[in-house]
Amino acid sequence: IGVGQNITERKHNEMDRTQMMSAIDNLDTGVALFDFDDRIVFSNKAFRTINQGITGYTVPGTSFDDYLKANVNDALALADDLDIETWMEERMAYHRAPSGTIEIQRQDGKTVQVLEQIIEEIGTILVVSDITASKLSQAQIIQASKLATLGEMATGVAHELNQPLNVIRLAADNLARKEEKGLLDSDTLRSKLDRISTQTERAAKIIDHMRMFGRESRETKQLFRVEKALTGALDMIKEQLRLDDIEIVLDINALSSAEDETAVLSVVGHQIQMEQVLLNLFGNAKDALREIEENKTIRIGLAADTNDNVKITVSDNGVGIPAKYQERIFDPFFTTKKPGQGTGLGLSVSYGIVRDMNGTIEVESVRGATQFTILLPNAKERQIVTEEI
Ligand code: ADP
Repeated sequence: IGVGQNITERKHNEMDRTQMMSAIDNLDTGVALFDFDDRIVFSNKAFRTINQGITGYTVPGTSFDDYLKANVNDALALADDLDIETWMEERMAYHRAPSGTIEIQRQDGKTVQVLEQIIEEIGTILVVSDITASKLSQAQIIQASKLATLGEMATGVAHELNQPLNVIRLAADNLARKEEKGLLDSDTLRSKLDRISTQTERAAKIIDHMRMFGRESRETKQLFRVEKALTGALDMIKEQLRLDDIEIVLDINALSSAEDETAVLSVVGHQIQMEQVLLNLFGNAKDALREIEENKTIRIGLAADTNDNVKITVSDNGVGIPAKYQERIFDPFFTTKKPGQGTGLGLSVSYGIVRDMNGTIEVESVRGATQFTILLPNAKERQIVTEEI
């Protein structure tokens, strides 16, 4: 007995399936699928390449737990303020209820981005991509703008350094004169030497801060108090503002002064980058006030917003931003300043830094009043903004 059956459709389906699997297998992005028992059913070539040291844990049957543990031991570079247990807990929390993406900093210097998604009746799909290159170019742009800011601030800093140097010179001259006349007693000597030492410390502090600010940072994100960044930025620019007759008015919510590092008004990110954002805003405000005759003022507000955000405002009573420019000021290279006075990078870099901290930056401006408002998630409790963990 012969039985004939038309299997064209089945063959087509098989072909489609094989082609699809081959396409996924050859993707540049790492893909792994976990079933509802949380075991790998499939992983592609790129997934194995990204997990090079632990390919044994990328094969079908491996549990998510084992995969994660192997990953932690083999590749994870942990931020200073995080321990492995906390990291594992946060990572598992994301795995159980994924939302958005997370970034992981690895020991080999690579940054990978992880996206998980639960797909009904199938399981969890895990997508891993190597984003080191884009992170690096982002870091380079930040660095370029930082160096430009440093350049623009050079005069103010030179002026600021001059003060302790002058005091030191006076003290030394004074000592020499007294010594010549045979009038040098040990009390005078002690007090002048103390003054020299304090002023040297002051100068060293200024230089140290500039050096720290200028350094390229590849460090991981950390919890820090916004007020510290504010003080750091103000320390660097206040002399320049004073020379321009600009008054600084601070309106800082008292809660932020709590000694506890984890108290309100702490955020997760890089303190130096936050200083950079603030310096850009202060620098722009200073420029906007250049043509104003009197009452030049920069107001700085720092407070807890109602929606669990930290709110930072920087306002000036300068020329204002014409409406037609307001949409463009955050674009890279948009500047209304003369060559050599502006790069047009300040606000676009600031925008990137704030966005990277899961925050927002907005502007409101009319003639005679400009206000920038930054909102950042208040990190009073450590949360899963697990960038570069
Ligand atoms: P740059 O300062 O190098 O020009 P930015 O990206 O920091 O670059 O700023 C872009 C432009 O936005 C400035 O050239 C200026 O026209 C405008 N701007 C920014 N802040 C203010 C401000 N506080 N008042 C008026 N204009 C501003």
